[in-house]
Amino acid sequence: MKDKPSSELFCPHCQHTLYNWKEQDQVTIYKCGNKNCPCRIQNLKKLNPAERMMQKLIPTHFKLNYQYREYHLTPEQIQHSEPKQARVDLTKIYNTDNVLGLILAFYVSFAMSAKKTALILRMVYDIHVSSQTILNYAQAAACHCHPFNLQYKGGIDDICSGDETYIKVLAKHHYVFFFVSSEKRSIIAYHIADNREAQPAIVAMNEAIRTAQPNQDITLITDGNPSYPAGLHFLNEGRENKIKHIKVIGLENLDEDSTEYRAYKQIIERLNRTYKQHVKPAAGFNSFDGAVSLTTLFVTYYNFLRPHMSLNYKTPIHIPELDDIKTIQSKWIKILSMAA
Ligand SMILES: [Zn+2]
Repeated sequence: MKDKPSSELFCPHCQHTLYNWKEQDQVTIYKCGNKNCPCRIQNLKKLNPAERMMQKLIPTHFKLNYQYREYHLTPEQIQHSEPKQARVDLTKIYNTDNVLGLILAFYVSFAMSAKKTALILRMVYDIHVSSQTILNYAQAAACHCHPFNLQYKGGIDDICSGDETYIKVLAKHHYVFFFVSSEKRSIIAYHIADNREAQPAIVAMNEAIRTAQPNQDITLITDGNPSYPAGLHFLNEGRENKIKHIKVIGLENLDEDSTEYRAYKQIIERLNRTYKQHVKPAAGFNSFDGAVSLTTLFVTYYNFLRPHMSLNYKTPIHIPELDDIKTIQSKWIKILSMAA
């Protein structure tokens, strides 16, 4: 624990020295204590009469004073979630590549549950595979697809939008953070965590901007979750080309930013809906690894295999090796062979 910042910090609004307000595991929060700080006065003005009453009764209820969050995260703590090493080695399975491809086609591309995939294989193709085997194969495939997703991600557009959507793992809420490149429509970051605080937001944004050009001006668009600006504070530290942030809030266009950038927010909302359709058959996940595996495979499908209406039925990322392959199961096998 340190009780003083490395060098004294000042409020950008009133130049008062910030005091150490809260010390948490991953963050130290400094606050401006000046009652007449323009930041505080402006935030007070934004409150409606009911909120002002509330503020008088419970002064800590609203965040009015300027805050500065100093994160102390190690490089390990901002690592992307990745599928755990699988129990199954795909080069040593009893089934043929074609069966593996069919499993990924039904289970991932067509968003069938593992049970339904097993049923289709048995009743349509007379192939006997248990739903547990399907889950094991999917996890093993995800281990190959995760590095493939990162390696073939490509560059990103100047404007990218992100959001977190919730899923259930063992009946507990978890959050999937997605970032999407606005023109290419590719998913440029996916990260799962059991909370939606700044730490997972930092992981997702750090991966989102990983493949940006060194001199590229990037703007990230998100909703009002304070984890994004807090996380960008951390990522912009010492960075010459600062990442900009625009927040789009509410359902109506209440402010100028929200009007201008709403379309970008809608891109990520559509992605979230598509993702939900794909994870719904899993009816909540039985393990964190199961969630990471299916999400990883979903991203492979979304970026490299799924024709996108707004892209004239092309995939967000073009892999020339897949061009001449006709069936979706063979495309999956090709991706796995390229990822190996
Ligand atoms: Zn101040």
